Amino acid sequence: MRIFAIGRNYVEHIRELNNERPEEPVIFTKPDTALLRNKQPFYYPGFSHDIHHEVELVLRIGKNGKNIPDQHALSYIEAIGIGIDFTARDLQQKAKEKGLPWDIAKGFDGSAPVSDVFWPAAHFPDLSNINFSLQVDGQTKQQGNTGLMIFSFAYIISYLSGFFTLRQGDLIFTGTPKGVGPVIRGNVLHAFIEDEKLLEIEIR
Ligand code: MG
Repeated sequence: MRIFAIGRNYVEHIRELNNERPEEPVIFTKPDTALLRNKQPFYYPGFSHDIHHEVELVLRIGKNGKNIPDQHALSYIEAIGIGIDFTARDLQQKAKEKGLPWDIAKGFDGSAPVSDVFWPAAHFPDLSNINFSLQVDGQTKQQGNTGLMIFSFAYIISYLSGFFTLRQGDLIFTGTPKGVGPVIRGNVLHAFIEDEKLLEIEIR
């Protein structure tokens, strides 16, 4: 199982970090040691002073595929869940300034909490109109809708599969909407798809 992630897929998040709008999806990966399950604690790492939450819808791939054409790409989505792309923003900023890779800023242990519950793609009447959100200590900090994505699920799958053979069970983080921000020890994060709370993570 691999974890792929898309950066800069929501315009207003690109603006809040003063990034450029990409011509093609920005791709990075996280190792499977980054995975955190629902209700497992996230331990604030000593190497960063600026860990940010980025709530994202997560696609789970249902079958193997390579060079998947756009028009068949949606059939590769087995189910959709929610996750948090924890980011060491201070390390990422340094890497960006020097043009270096983001691996340590994005792929450290525990940086990929993912819900246990995934809903089958068929559960959603319209994949381009899914609401999702993140609360920190009961306050809504991020709200997104897939209608605001620059690159659709189909395009992301098709594009990724041109470089990487996708395998059953792979996860794809599809980008975060605006409202990213720091977490501190003691925070409790809740992530929702529509009104369903699917993920709870405490920062320790
Ligand atoms: Mg992200």
